[in-house]
Amino acid sequence: MATTHFKNTDWIVVWDEEAQSHSYLRNGDLVFTDNEITFVGKDYNGDADTVIDGSGLCLIPGFVDIHAHPASEVFYRGIREDHSVPEHYMTGLYERSCAYSIDREDLKHGAEVSYADLMRSGVTTLVDITFPYPGWVDVMERGGLRMFAAPGFNTATWYRDNVHQLKYNEDIAKGEKDFETALGLIDELRAHPCGRLNGIVSPVQIDNNTDEILVASHAAAKERGIPWTTHASQSVVEFNIMLERHGKTPIQYLADLGLVGVGTILGHAMLIDDNSWIGWHSKTDLKLLGDSHTAVAHCPTPFMRYGTTMEDFGRYRDAGVVMGIGTDTIPHNYIEDMRYAAVLARVASHNGHAARTADVFHAGTVGGANALMRDDLGRLAVGAKADIVVLDCTHPVMMPLRDPLASLIHSAAERAVKDVYIDGRQTVKDHECLTLDREQAVARVAEGQVRMEASVETRDYAKRTSLDIAPLSLPLATH
Ligand SMILES: [Zn+2]
Repeated sequence: MATTHFKNTDWIVVWDEEAQSHSYLRNGDLVFTDNEITFVGKDYNGDADTVIDGSGLCLIPGFVDIHAHPASEVFYRGIREDHSVPEHYMTGLYERSCAYSIDREDLKHGAEVSYADLMRSGVTTLVDITFPYPGWVDVMERGGLRMFAAPGFNTATWYRDNVHQLKYNEDIAKGEKDFETALGLIDELRAHPCGRLNGIVSPVQIDNNTDEILVASHAAAKERGIPWTTHASQSVVEFNIMLERHGKTPIQYLADLGLVGVGTILGHAMLIDDNSWIGWHSKTDLKLLGDSHTAVAHCPTPFMRYGTTMEDFGRYRDAGVVMGIGTDTIPHNYIEDMRYAAVLARVASHNGHAARTADVFHAGTVGGANALMRDDLGRLAVGAKADIVVLDCTHPVMMPLRDPLASLIHSAAERAVKDVYIDGRQTVKDHECLTLDREQAVARVAEGQVRMEASVETRDYAKRTSLDIAPLSLPLATH
């Protein structure tokens, strides 16, 4: 049993169980033994193996990222930032998914880079939605994150043969087989001796799965007492396709199948019936989500790049939706995503109070933990897991240090994240990841991106190159 004591710490964000909210403790102590917090308060006078001087530090709970695709998305750095398809109401998702493909052997390097970057921005718990690939379990073991692995399966895949339509290749047998494989992996991870690996059942997109497999997979999650997640209401295209198939919005469809409620996490439930991009006559979706306390993984970054956003964070929260935040894609910087969540809510609602700094911090910690049905994550409290982020309050971008969370979220972001502990083990020290070789993995990702781009011309329906689809920000000079 090893005990670590942060002594006389300038600031600690402590959890008030009664008020169900965070507050600041000045000049306090925090102690953890092995993987559990054993003391938060003033003047600890017990023993400790390690005593850390807390002057100049702020301790916050580690962030709970409830939606990301870390293995694959890093390969799109430099490709997706300006990529939008007007014929798909601006989302570039379908065009990229159909035209680009990453070698399965390269994916573990992507995970290695992204896990390191996520931890360096304060993430300690990660929902990793991916189609299983060689080396995934190994990098989860080595990385040190508290993992909620979501091995994906689908009974259909997207394809395109023209610019405006999205079409589907159905292969139900493959989807069922992949579903069984996913359950096997989830059960294996949950039995892993490290105790840090968990699972989520994840049919990847609602439009790519049959009613039967959605219902059966949800039942499999319930049976295990674990969450269930899928992408739903993530684009106007998907919304319209679900309407055409079922005469219902994606959220109405899920509700009618009994798939909303506690334990369901929807990425991204953003293009719902009353969103201004949709303009559908029914106005039921938000109420269906809120009344059932469904969780929504709000990932502002990819959508804002297309010119779309949730309308709005504050309204969802007030309706009763369990709001959590995900990074989804590059740069895998959780703190920037909290900033965007706050700012975009204010812009979308024309209301500077729609999402305060405390609201997005709550979503990034306890909100995510609630979505995962875990009351021992996302908070600094006795009995909670020792998932702790140490901020450097003396960093110039944090100063003047009047309000640490305001400085962190609106100015400093990951630059203030000095150290990270997950399950009581230090994974980031002086801003660098201790568990993974980020530099080496980045080089492998760069090589993988070259291979990925080389095959675009043969995969794209219009036989375009990657440069045609996603031109550089500036043309290459010819003289
Ligand atoms: Zn996603």
